[in-house]
Amino acid sequence: MKSQYFTEDHQLFRESVRQFFDKEVVPNIDKWEEERQIPKSIFQKMGEQGYLGLMYPEEFGGTGTDFWYSVVFLEELAKTGLAGFSTAVSVHQYMATNHIYKAGSYELKKNYLEPAIKGEKVGALGISEPVAGSDVANILTRAEKQGDYYVINGSKTFISNGTYGDFITLACKTSQHGISLIVVDLDSPGVTKTKLKKMGWHSSDTAEISFDNVKVPVGNLIGQENMGFYYLMESLQLERLVAACMAVPGAQATVDLTVKYIHERQTFGRPLAKYQVIRHTLADLLTEIEMARQMVYNTCWLFTHGENVVKECSMAKLYTSELANKTADKCLQFFGGYGYMEDFPICRTYRDVRVGTIAGGSSEIMREIIAKVTLDGVNFNPVYNNGAKAKAEV
Ligand SMILES: Cc1cc2nc3c(=O)[nH]c(=O)nc-3n(C[C@H](O)[C@H](O)[C@H](O)COP(=O)(O)OP(=O)(O)OC[C@H]3O[C@@H](n4cnc5c(N)ncnc54)[C@H](O)[C@@H]3O)c2cc1C
Repeated sequence: MKSQYFTEDHQLFRESVRQFFDKEVVPNIDKWEEERQIPKSIFQKMGEQGYLGLMYPEEFGGTGTDFWYSVVFLEELAKTGLAGFSTAVSVHQYMATNHIYKAGSYELKKNYLEPAIKGEKVGALGISEPVAGSDVANILTRAEKQGDYYVINGSKTFISNGTYGDFITLACKTSQHGISLIVVDLDSPGVTKTKLKKMGWHSSDTAEISFDNVKVPVGNLIGQENMGFYYLMESLQLERLVAACMAVPGAQATVDLTVKYIHERQTFGRPLAKYQVIRHTLADLLTEIEMARQMVYNTCWLFTHGENVVKECSMAKLYTSELANKTADKCLQFFGGYGYMEDFPICRTYRDVRVGTIAGGSSEIMREIIAKVTLDGVNFNPVYNNGAKAKAEV
């Protein structure tokens, strides 16, 4: 179908990504889900294809392509139907390394961004803690400067790529109220990782990580000390947009699965596809999915034009994650008992989508941000690269 956003080159790229995932990922879905992780070799294979440096400059091994290549990549990632895998990859490319690219020193880019783009090092992002998830300003992990090192103490939880990741972009308190972002090697002495058991996203590796007097060179600080909270607030927009970019094709894939099933399954001598209640439910879902798709594309367009999209990204994350949940719930119903069986992919989808309204900023927090912008007139200004004192201006 023609699109105002995607060129022929984007479509060719889509074909190549799809073929890659069909060959390298789809046949392994059950195995990786059972093993509760994906092999590191898949990162290297993606690195060789240039899929892990889509947003990054050629100087560090990236492809330097426009953001629509990332949108294509994320859409095809979501269509694999393996949300745990999609999470691992998107956290690596769009969350852990993004801060290093935006504000990290040349050395940090050489030591972490470049190998991450090659798929040789896997990155994690450490914000959430046992006592503070939504409330990022109240994290307790501390980094104390001692000579040429920071000494880090504290713990993080729910960290994707936390067990087998090679490094973590870590949010730490560096003053009473100031947060800084510091890159920490996950094999450093004093780091302990515990893998967590989850309801879904089984193929993604999620960990609780504790830091006990972990020494990190001061050169591993990203950008300016005590600016981390503002860096996080800004880059969370990309994280939320990425989540929305994946939620829409995910919901579409759920409906596609269901359409196939209702044509095959017969009750009372007719295929399920003949029952109006089912037809109309799917028609409504498809209408909402199309609406969501256009909203996400428009937000991507604004994002690529450098607009302040805090409100739009929050709306996109809120709407698409809620829609993905609704879609999985309604579609599973039409599979009857089979929808509850592990042999049917809809069963995994139902488990996997649940976390969408929680991780990366919950629906309640998205509503709060939207209300702050629209009701209170708060303007969340971008801070990266301009050295300006960041603030939410009323
Ligand atoms: C599978 C998984 C992977 C994750 N990966 C990562 C990762 O890689 N890195 C990372 O840093 N974090 C990660 N997270 C953490 C995730 O971002 C947090 O779970 C999320 O931000 C919510 O924080 P919390 O769990 O502490 O819930 P809380 O902050 O304790 O919130 C609990 C409930 O209260 C609601 N609530 C909180 N404050 C308000 C308020 N002011 N008004 C109304 N309602 C409110 C919330 O919406 C939620 O429903 C992951 C989580 C999961 C489950």
